[in-house]
Amino acid sequence: MRLAMVGTGYVGLVAGAGFADFGNDVVCADVNAEKIACLDRGEVPIYEPGLDALIASNVKAGRLRFSTDVVKAIRDAEVVFIAVGTPSAEDGSADLSHVFKVAETIGKNLEGFKVIVTKSTVPVGTADKIKAIIAKHTKHDFAVASNPEFLKEGAAINDFMKPDRVVIGSDHPKAREALRHLYSAFVRATDRIHVMDARSAELTKYASNALLATRISFMNDLAVLAEKLGADIELVRKGVGADPRIGPKFLFPGPGFGGSCFPKDISALLFAGREVGIELEMVRATEVVNARQKKILGRKIVEHFGGSLAGKTIAVWGLAFKPQTDDIREAPALTLIDDLLAAGAKVQAHDPQAMDNVKAIYGDRVHFAEGMYGAVEGADALALVTEWHEFRTPDFQRMKLAMRTRSLFDGRNMWAPDELREMGFYYTGIGRQ
Ligand code: NAD
Repeated sequence: MRLAMVGTGYVGLVAGAGFADFGNDVVCADVNAEKIACLDRGEVPIYEPGLDALIASNVKAGRLRFSTDVVKAIRDAEVVFIAVGTPSAEDGSADLSHVFKVAETIGKNLEGFKVIVTKSTVPVGTADKIKAIIAKHTKHDFAVASNPEFLKEGAAINDFMKPDRVVIGSDHPKAREALRHLYSAFVRATDRIHVMDARSAELTKYASNALLATRISFMNDLAVLAEKLGADIELVRKGVGADPRIGPKFLFPGPGFGGSCFPKDISALLFAGREVGIELEMVRATEVVNARQKKILGRKIVEHFGGSLAGKTIAVWGLAFKPQTDDIREAPALTLIDDLLAAGAKVQAHDPQAMDNVKAIYGDRVHFAEGMYGAVEGADALALVTEWHEFRTPDFQRMKLAMRTRSLFDGRNMWAPDELREMGFYYTGIGRQ
């Protein structure tokens, strides 16, 4: 099929390359000329494992192209995907201006029947609004569908190519048929396509993210209790996760969740509830606990040094909101850096992929070390924020020699407290002794 992916970000680029790989003819369009130029040079503007090879092979095969000409991409396609950003507006709602702008462009450029699919995460009722905007500008027939994306950054290609489920939300038979056809290649083993109305599809996406975020906040809440009561949240986590009704995933305590999705989607869900007079208490608690948790590492470090970090050097390992991505949107490391700088510390940071993005925010207010051991050189403490593989079993002897004061703040409970204390480190994790 001929597809247009309007919005060439984490989702649009992965989905565009993925659809191309299954034989479709795809144009990824974006208003960001720099991004398109970068892709045209054969570079990939984001870090996502395997994405460069997937793009390269499909570009070479002539199935994947990039363009700033959004209008032409729309005109040439049978199915147009909207994959633009839906960031938080100031009031916490989802900012749909990009989505509506694309809908208007589609409406003005329809020359015959097309299927319009929203891949962006959008509040319930957005498909109807998109339909109305397009209808205002055209006399041609069209169908609108919601097809929320569930990929995880860091494992996006596998998630997209082998989805656990595909949600198709539309009452229009032609939209359902086109999307079923498109996705049938991805779900050959078992039927994992869920067809529903657009409103239910839109809510399914928010419900999924809110539930995952709630599991994390629940464990973070319990971690605070465990620490106070002398229990070890890591043992509790394993015991709880062994129940097949619960399962082990998304139970890891840590420095709070970040990313481009959970925080903004929770905020948008709360806003949507309030608009119809409903306070979603569980979702609200998830947000409150996370805001507190994102301050936990900074609080622990400041308390450890008696209330001020003046003259102290604090190393930070991990800046991306999670491993295997360079995405720093809402990353807990940013909250930590703000808190450390506010308390007077000198901050030395390292991340395998995300340093340029963080540098763009802090400039020379933070020292960015080339290697992980460079970051701990002369440091009084080290905070582990993102659990990249290379941080999991570091050379503690080397760190012992490099650090000025040997204090470890393990935001991911990666390391063995007893062993480290025996080696002469001060160690504290999250929710353990
Ligand atoms: P992103 O910010 O990485 O990319 C969005 C792109 O849209 C940008 O490149 C921007 O230039 C482009 N854009 C904006 N307005 C445009 C317009 N009028 N025409 C063409 N392009 C335009 O965003 P993302 O992370 O890819 O997320 C996109 C959507 O997918 C969001 O709604 C998000 O919630 C959802 N989503 C994201 C993920 C994820 O892991 N990132 C996962 C599932 C769903």
